[in-house]
Amino acid sequence: MKIINGNVYIDKGFERLELSFGKTIKSAAKVLPPDESFDAAGMYVVPGFIDTHIHGFGGVDTMDGADAVRTMSRELVKHGTTAFLPTTMTASVADTRAALKGIAEVMKEKPQGAAVLGAYMEGPCFAANKRGAQPIEHLQLPAIELYDEITDGLDEAVRRFAIAPELDGALPLVRELVRRRVQVSIGHTDATYEQAMAAVEQGASSVTHMYNAMTPLTHRNPGAVGAALSSKHIVCEFIADLIHLHPAAIRTMFAAKGEDLCCAVTDSMMAGGMPDGEYALGGQKVYVRENAARLADGTLAGSVLTLHRSLVNMVSVVGVPLAQALPMYTEVPANLIDDEDRGRIEVGCAADIVLLDTFLNIKAVFVGGKRMV
Ligand SMILES: [Zn+2]
Repeated sequence: MKIINGNVYIDKGFERLELSFGKTIKSAAKVLPPDESFDAAGMYVVPGFIDTHIHGFGGVDTMDGADAVRTMSRELVKHGTTAFLPTTMTASVADTRAALKGIAEVMKEKPQGAAVLGAYMEGPCFAANKRGAQPIEHLQLPAIELYDEITDGLDEAVRRFAIAPELDGALPLVRELVRRRVQVSIGHTDATYEQAMAAVEQGASSVTHMYNAMTPLTHRNPGAVGAALSSKHIVCEFIADLIHLHPAAIRTMFAAKGEDLCCAVTDSMMAGGMPDGEYALGGQKVYVRENAARLADGTLAGSVLTLHRSLVNMVSVVGVPLAQALPMYTEVPANLIDDEDRGRIEVGCAADIVLLDTFLNIKAVFVGGKRMV
Protein backbone atom coordinates (compact mmCIF):
# COMPACT_ATOMS: atom_id res chain seq x y z
CA MET A 1 0.00 0.00 0.00
CA LYS A 2 1.14 3.52 -0.72
CA ILE A 3 -0.14 6.93 0.24
CA ILE A 4 0.95 9.55 -2.28
CA ASN A 5 0.91 13.34 -2.37
CA GLY A 6 0.14 13.69 1.34
CA ASN A 7 1.63 16.07 3.88
CA VAL A 8 3.26 13.47 6.10
CA TYR A 9 3.83 14.31 9.76
CA ILE A 10 7.43 13.41 10.44
CA ASP A 11 9.95 14.84 12.93
CA LYS A 12 7.30 17.27 14.20
CA GLY A 13 6.73 18.88 10.83
CA PHE A 14 4.91 18.18 7.58
CA GLU A 15 6.68 17.01 4.44
CA ARG A 16 5.34 16.05 1.00
CA LEU A 17 6.30 12.36 0.89
CA GLU A 18 5.18 9.04 -0.48
CA LEU A 19 4.51 6.57 2.29
CA SER A 20 4.87 2.86 1.60
CA PHE A 21 3.67 0.26 4.10
CA GLY A 22 2.53 -3.26 4.76
CA LYS A 23 1.85 -4.19 8.36
CA THR A 24 4.58 -1.76 9.28
CA ILE A 25 5.91 1.34 7.59
CA LYS A 26 8.45 0.41 4.90
CA SER A 27 9.60 3.75 3.62
CA ALA A 28 8.86 7.43 3.59
CA ALA A 29 10.49 8.88 0.50
CA LYS A 30 10.12 11.72 -1.96
CA VAL A 31 9.41 9.56 -5.05
CA LEU A 32 8.26 5.98 -5.54
CA PRO A 33 6.67 4.42 -8.63
CA PRO A 34 2.90 4.53 -8.14
CA ASP A 35 1.02 1.22 -7.93
CA GLU A 36 -1.50 0.50 -5.17
CA SER A 37 -1.76 3.97 -3.77
CA PHE A 38 -4.07 6.38 -1.95
CA ASP A 39 -3.99 9.92 -3.31
CA ALA A 40 -3.80 12.16 -0.25
CA ALA A 41 -3.33 15.42 -2.12
CA GLY A 42 -4.11 18.28 0.26
CA MET A 43 -4.39 15.98 3.27
CA TYR A 44 -2.43 15.55 6.46
CA VAL A 45 -1.02 12.05 6.97
CA VAL A 46 -0.54 11.62 10.71
CA PRO A 47 0.05 8.79 13.21
CA GLY A 48 -3.10 7.15 14.62
CA PHE A 49 -4.37 8.56 17.91
CA ILE A 50 -3.69 6.57 21.10
CA ASP A 51 -6.13 6.82 24.01
CA THR A 52 -4.50 5.77 27.29
CA HIS A 53 -7.57 6.50 29.46
CA ILE A 54 -10.98 5.41 28.21
CA HIS A 55 -13.71 3.59 30.15
CA GLY A 56 -16.27 3.05 27.44
CA PHE A 57 -17.61 4.09 24.06
CA GLY A 58 -20.42 3.25 21.65
CA GLY A 59 -22.84 2.22 24.43
CA VAL A 60 -20.51 -0.23 26.21
CA ASP A 61 -18.15 -0.17 29.21
CA THR A 62 -14.79 -1.89 29.76
CA MET A 63 -16.18 -3.40 32.97
CA ASP A 64 -18.65 -5.44 30.87
CA GLY A 65 -15.96 -7.75 29.47
CA ALA A 66 -14.44 -8.89 26.19
CA ASP A 67 -17.39 -8.17 23.89
CA ALA A 68 -17.60 -4.61 25.17
CA VAL A 69 -13.89 -4.11 24.49
CA ARG A 70 -14.37 -5.45 20.94
CA THR A 71 -17.20 -2.97 20.37
CA MET A 72 -15.03 -0.12 21.66
CA SER A 73 -12.28 -1.18 19.25
CA ARG A 74 -14.64 -1.15 16.26
CA GLU A 75 -16.30 2.15 17.18
CA LEU A 76 -13.17 4.07 18.22
CA VAL A 77 -11.34 3.49 14.96
CA LYS A 78 -14.06 5.48 13.14
CA HIS A 79 -12.79 8.50 15.09
CA GLY A 80 -9.11 8.03 14.28
CA THR A 81 -8.18 6.25 17.50
CA THR A 82 -5.98 3.35 16.38
CA ALA A 83 -4.93 2.01 19.80
CA PHE A 84 -6.26 2.31 23.34
CA LEU A 85 -6.07 1.12 26.93
CA PRO A 86 -9.53 -0.01 28.08
CA THR A 87 -9.79 1.51 31.55
CA THR A 88 -11.23 -0.12 34.64
CA MET A 89 -12.65 1.92 37.50
CA THR A 90 -12.94 1.43 41.24
CA ALA A 91 -14.96 -1.77 41.71
CA SER A 92 -14.89 -5.05 43.65
CA VAL A 93 -11.91 -7.38 43.24
CA ALA A 94 -14.08 -9.88 41.34
CA ASP A 95 -15.52 -7.28 38.94
CA THR A 96 -12.09 -5.79 38.23
CA ARG A 97 -10.64 -9.25 37.60
CA ALA A 98 -13.47 -10.03 35.18
CA ALA A 99 -12.77 -6.81 33.26
CA LEU A 100 -9.01 -7.51 33.12
CA LYS A 101 -9.77 -11.02 31.84
CA GLY A 102 -11.84 -9.54 29.01
CA ILE A 103 -9.08 -7.10 28.08
CA ALA A 104 -6.41 -9.83 28.14
CA GLU A 105 -8.59 -11.96 25.84
CA VAL A 106 -9.08 -9.23 23.23
CA MET A 107 -5.38 -8.25 23.35
CA LYS A 108 -4.51 -11.65 21.88
CA GLU A 109 -6.89 -11.26 18.91
CA LYS A 110 -6.24 -9.60 15.58
CA PRO A 111 -7.75 -6.10 15.92
CA GLN A 112 -11.06 -5.49 14.14
CA GLY A 113 -10.56 -1.80 14.77
CA ALA A 114 -8.34 0.07 17.22
CA ALA A 115 -5.66 -2.14 18.80
CA VAL A 116 -6.05 -3.03 22.49
CA LEU A 117 -2.68 -2.40 24.13
CA GLY A 118 -3.59 -3.43 27.67
CA ALA A 119 -5.48 -2.19 30.69
CA TYR A 120 -5.35 1.04 32.61
CA MET A 121 -6.55 0.47 36.17
CA GLU A 122 -8.13 3.66 37.48
CA GLY A 123 -8.67 2.53 41.06
CA PRO A 124 -9.30 1.31 43.68
CA CYS A 125 -6.67 3.17 45.80
CA PHE A 126 -7.95 6.75 45.84
CA ALA A 127 -8.69 9.56 48.32
CA ALA A 128 -12.36 9.46 49.36
CA ASN A 129 -12.71 13.26 49.18
CA LYS A 130 -11.31 13.34 45.60
CA ARG A 131 -13.08 10.25 44.30
CA GLY A 132 -15.20 12.04 41.67
CA ALA A 133 -17.39 9.33 40.15
CA GLN A 134 -15.38 6.44 41.64
CA PRO A 135 -17.81 4.51 43.94
CA ILE A 136 -16.81 5.09 47.60
CA GLU A 137 -17.80 1.61 48.78
CA HIS A 138 -15.03 -0.04 46.74
CA LEU A 139 -12.15 2.30 47.63
CA GLN A 140 -9.25 0.44 49.28
CA LEU A 141 -5.92 1.22 50.89
CA PRO A 142 -2.95 0.40 48.66
CA ALA A 143 -1.03 -2.85 49.25
CA ILE A 144 1.04 -5.04 46.99
CA GLU A 145 -1.06 -8.01 48.20
CA LEU A 146 -4.24 -6.26 47.04
CA TYR A 147 -2.77 -5.54 43.61
CA ASP A 148 -1.61 -9.15 43.29
CA GLU A 149 -5.04 -10.44 44.32
CA ILE A 150 -6.74 -8.34 41.62
CA THR A 151 -4.25 -9.05 38.84
CA ASP A 152 -3.21 -12.64 39.66
CA GLY A 153 -2.54 -14.38 36.34
CA LEU A 154 -3.59 -11.24 34.42
CA ASP A 155 -0.76 -8.89 35.38
CA GLU A 156 0.74 -8.85 31.88
CA ALA A 157 -2.38 -7.06 30.63
CA VAL A 158 -1.88 -4.10 32.99
CA ARG A 159 0.00 -1.15 31.46
CA ARG A 160 -1.02 1.72 33.75
CA PHE A 161 -2.21 2.09 37.35
CA ALA A 162 -3.56 5.24 39.00
CA ILE A 163 -3.14 5.86 42.72
CA ALA A 164 -3.43 8.55 45.41
CA PRO A 165 0.15 8.64 46.72
CA GLU A 166 -0.67 10.11 50.15
CA LEU A 167 -2.48 6.95 51.26
CA ASP A 168 -0.78 4.58 53.71
CA GLY A 169 1.09 1.92 51.77
CA ALA A 170 1.06 3.82 48.47
CA LEU A 171 4.78 4.45 48.02
CA PRO A 172 5.95 0.81 48.30
CA LEU A 173 3.24 -0.14 45.78
CA VAL A 174 4.35 2.61 43.39
CA ARG A 175 7.94 1.40 43.62
CA GLU A 176 6.98 -2.23 43.03
CA LEU A 177 4.72 -1.46 40.05
CA VAL A 178 7.40 0.66 38.40
CA ARG A 179 9.82 -2.23 38.93
CA ARG A 180 7.29 -4.45 37.11
CA ARG A 181 7.14 -1.91 34.25
CA VAL A 182 3.60 -0.75 35.00
CA GLN A 183 3.29 3.00 34.39
CA VAL A 184 2.04 4.70 37.57
CA SER A 185 -0.15 7.80 37.51
CA ILE A 186 -1.03 10.11 40.40
CA GLY A 187 -4.79 10.62 40.51
CA HIS A 188 -7.95 11.17 42.56
CA THR A 189 -5.61 12.54 45.17
CA ASP A 190 -5.51 14.86 48.15
CA ALA A 191 -1.69 14.84 48.09
CA THR A 192 0.38 17.83 49.09
CA TYR A 193 3.11 18.89 46.66
CA GLU A 194 5.61 16.95 48.80
CA GLN A 195 3.51 13.80 48.82
CA ALA A 196 3.07 13.95 45.05
CA MET A 197 6.83 14.40 44.55
CA ALA A 198 7.55 11.47 46.89
CA ALA A 199 5.62 9.28 44.44
CA VAL A 200 7.61 10.74 41.53
CA GLU A 201 10.79 9.76 43.38
CA GLN A 202 9.48 6.18 43.40
CA GLY A 203 8.88 6.33 39.64
CA ALA A 204 5.32 7.65 39.18
CA SER A 205 5.43 9.46 35.84
CA SER A 206 2.06 11.08 35.14
CA VAL A 207 -1.00 12.68 36.68
CA THR A 208 -4.50 11.45 35.86
CA HIS A 209 -6.84 14.04 34.29
CA MET A 210 -4.72 17.08 35.17
CA TYR A 211 -6.48 19.59 37.47
CA ASN A 212 -9.52 17.29 37.95
CA ALA A 213 -9.83 15.38 41.26
CA MET A 214 -6.50 16.59 42.67
CA THR A 215 -5.18 19.25 45.05
CA PRO A 216 -5.09 22.62 43.28
CA LEU A 217 -2.16 25.03 43.02
CA THR A 218 -2.11 27.86 45.53
CA HIS A 219 0.87 30.09 46.14
CA ARG A 220 1.96 28.53 49.45
CA ASN A 221 0.59 25.03 48.84
CA PRO A 222 1.39 24.04 45.24
CA GLY A 223 -0.43 20.69 45.62
CA ALA A 224 -0.52 17.94 43.01
CA VAL A 225 -1.22 20.52 40.29
CA GLY A 226 1.94 22.42 41.27
CA ALA A 227 3.96 19.21 41.23
CA ALA A 228 2.62 18.34 37.78
CA LEU A 229 3.26 21.80 36.33
CA SER A 230 6.77 22.11 37.73
CA SER A 231 8.28 18.62 37.44
CA LYS A 232 9.93 17.46 34.21
CA HIS A 233 9.29 13.89 35.34
CA ILE A 234 5.50 14.17 35.16
CA VAL A 235 3.37 13.81 32.04
CA CYS A 236 0.02 15.60 32.35
CA GLU A 237 -2.88 13.52 31.10
CA PHE A 238 -5.69 15.96 30.23
CA ILE A 239 -9.29 16.02 28.95
CA ALA A 240 -9.83 18.74 26.31
CA ASP A 241 -13.63 18.53 26.00
CA LEU A 242 -13.76 22.16 27.22
CA ILE A 243 -16.04 20.98 30.05
CA HIS A 244 -13.49 19.37 32.38
CA LEU A 245 -11.06 22.26 31.79
CA HIS A 246 -11.24 25.91 30.81
CA PRO A 247 -9.20 26.59 27.64
CA ALA A 248 -6.96 28.94 29.66
CA ALA A 249 -6.19 26.12 32.13
CA ILE A 250 -5.12 23.95 29.19
CA ARG A 251 -3.04 26.82 27.80
CA THR A 252 -1.35 27.28 31.20
CA MET A 253 -0.48 23.58 31.34
CA PHE A 254 0.80 23.62 27.77
CA ALA A 255 2.93 26.71 28.43
CA ALA A 256 4.51 25.03 31.46
CA LYS A 257 4.97 21.56 30.01
CA GLY A 258 5.19 21.74 26.21
CA GLU A 259 3.93 19.10 23.79
CA ASP A 260 6.32 16.37 24.99
CA LEU A 261 4.91 16.26 28.53
CA CYS A 262 1.17 16.58 27.86
CA CYS A 263 -0.93 13.54 26.97
CA ALA A 264 -4.44 13.92 25.59
CA VAL A 265 -6.95 11.35 26.85
CA THR A 266 -10.72 11.16 26.56
CA ASP A 267 -11.76 9.49 29.86
CA SER A 268 -14.83 8.68 27.77
CA MET A 269 -17.62 6.59 29.28
CA MET A 270 -20.14 4.37 27.46
CA ALA A 271 -22.11 7.31 26.05
CA GLY A 272 -19.16 8.38 23.86
CA GLY A 273 -20.36 8.30 20.24
CA MET A 274 -23.99 7.95 21.43
CA PRO A 275 -26.96 10.32 21.69
CA ASP A 276 -27.80 12.26 24.88
CA GLY A 277 -29.69 10.27 27.50
CA GLU A 278 -29.37 8.13 30.60
CA TYR A 279 -26.36 5.81 30.93
CA ALA A 280 -24.36 4.09 33.71
CA LEU A 281 -20.86 4.20 35.18
CA GLY A 282 -19.70 1.94 38.00
CA GLY A 283 -23.28 1.04 38.88
CA GLN A 284 -24.34 4.70 39.09
CA LYS A 285 -26.79 6.54 36.84
CA VAL A 286 -25.14 9.05 34.50
CA TYR A 287 -27.03 11.77 32.66
CA VAL A 288 -25.55 12.89 29.34
CA ARG A 289 -26.54 16.28 28.00
CA GLU A 290 -24.72 18.76 25.73
CA ASN A 291 -21.43 16.82 25.70
CA ALA A 292 -21.29 16.49 29.50
CA ALA A 293 -21.74 13.23 31.48
CA ARG A 294 -22.76 13.81 35.10
CA LEU A 295 -23.98 11.88 38.15
CA ALA A 296 -27.33 12.96 39.65
CA ASP A 297 -25.47 15.35 42.02
CA GLY A 298 -23.71 17.06 39.10
CA THR A 299 -20.28 15.39 39.54
CA LEU A 300 -18.60 14.85 36.17
CA ALA A 301 -18.59 11.13 35.33
CA GLY A 302 -16.05 10.84 32.54
CA SER A 303 -16.65 12.41 29.17
CA VAL A 304 -18.21 11.69 25.79
CA LEU A 305 -15.13 13.01 24.01
CA THR A 306 -13.13 11.45 21.18
CA LEU A 307 -9.43 12.14 20.69
CA HIS A 308 -10.29 13.52 17.27
CA ARG A 309 -12.71 16.07 18.77
CA SER A 310 -10.12 16.86 21.44
CA LEU A 311 -7.50 17.56 18.73
CA VAL A 312 -9.90 19.87 16.90
CA ASN A 313 -10.58 21.69 20.21
CA MET A 314 -6.85 22.04 20.88
CA VAL A 315 -6.21 23.55 17.48
CA SER A 316 -9.31 25.70 17.05
CA VAL A 317 -10.15 26.80 20.61
CA VAL A 318 -7.01 26.40 22.74
CA GLY A 319 -4.91 27.68 19.84
CA VAL A 320 -2.10 25.12 19.59
CA PRO A 321 -0.78 24.66 16.01
CA LEU A 322 -1.52 21.20 14.56
CA ALA A 323 2.15 20.18 14.31
CA GLN A 324 2.64 20.96 18.01
CA ALA A 325 -0.66 19.41 19.11
CA LEU A 326 -0.17 16.05 17.37
CA PRO A 327 2.51 14.56 19.69
CA MET A 328 0.05 14.79 22.61
CA TYR A 329 -2.24 12.37 20.73
CA THR A 330 0.41 10.05 19.32
CA GLU A 331 4.02 9.99 20.47
CA VAL A 332 3.52 11.03 24.10
CA PRO A 333 0.92 8.33 24.92
CA ALA A 334 3.07 5.73 23.11
CA ASN A 335 6.14 6.78 25.09
CA LEU A 336 4.19 6.85 28.34
CA ILE A 337 3.49 3.12 28.08
CA ASP A 338 6.87 2.30 26.50
CA ASP A 339 5.39 1.37 23.12
CA GLU A 340 8.20 1.94 20.65
CA ASP A 341 6.20 0.65 17.67
CA ARG A 342 3.47 3.25 17.72
CA GLY A 343 2.84 6.97 17.87
CA ARG A 344 5.11 8.00 15.00
CA ILE A 345 5.52 7.64 11.27
CA GLU A 346 8.88 5.97 11.08
CA VAL A 347 10.30 2.99 9.19
CA GLY A 348 9.55 -0.17 11.18
CA CYS A 349 6.70 1.32 13.21
CA ALA A 350 3.13 -0.01 12.98
CA ALA A 351 1.31 1.47 9.98
CA ASP A 352 -1.35 3.09 12.18
CA ILE A 353 -2.19 6.13 10.09
CA VAL A 354 -4.94 8.77 9.98
CA LEU A 355 -5.64 11.00 6.99
CA LEU A 356 -7.16 14.40 7.75
CA ASP A 357 -8.36 17.01 5.30
CA THR A 358 -7.41 20.64 5.79
CA PHE A 359 -10.45 21.14 8.07
CA LEU A 360 -9.19 18.16 10.14
CA ASN A 361 -12.06 15.89 9.06
CA ILE A 362 -11.09 12.21 9.07
CA LYS A 363 -10.74 10.85 5.52
CA ALA A 364 -9.16 7.43 6.12
CA VAL A 365 -7.81 5.34 9.00
CA PHE A 366 -5.30 2.47 8.73
CA VAL A 367 -4.47 0.07 11.58
CA GLY A 368 -1.50 -2.23 11.02
CA GLY A 369 -1.59 -1.24 7.35
CA LYS A 370 -5.22 -2.32 6.94
CA ARG A 371 -7.72 0.33 5.93
CA MET A 372 -10.48 0.45 8.56
CA VAL A 373 -12.27 3.67 7.59
ZN1 LIG B 1 -11.01 9.67 37.04
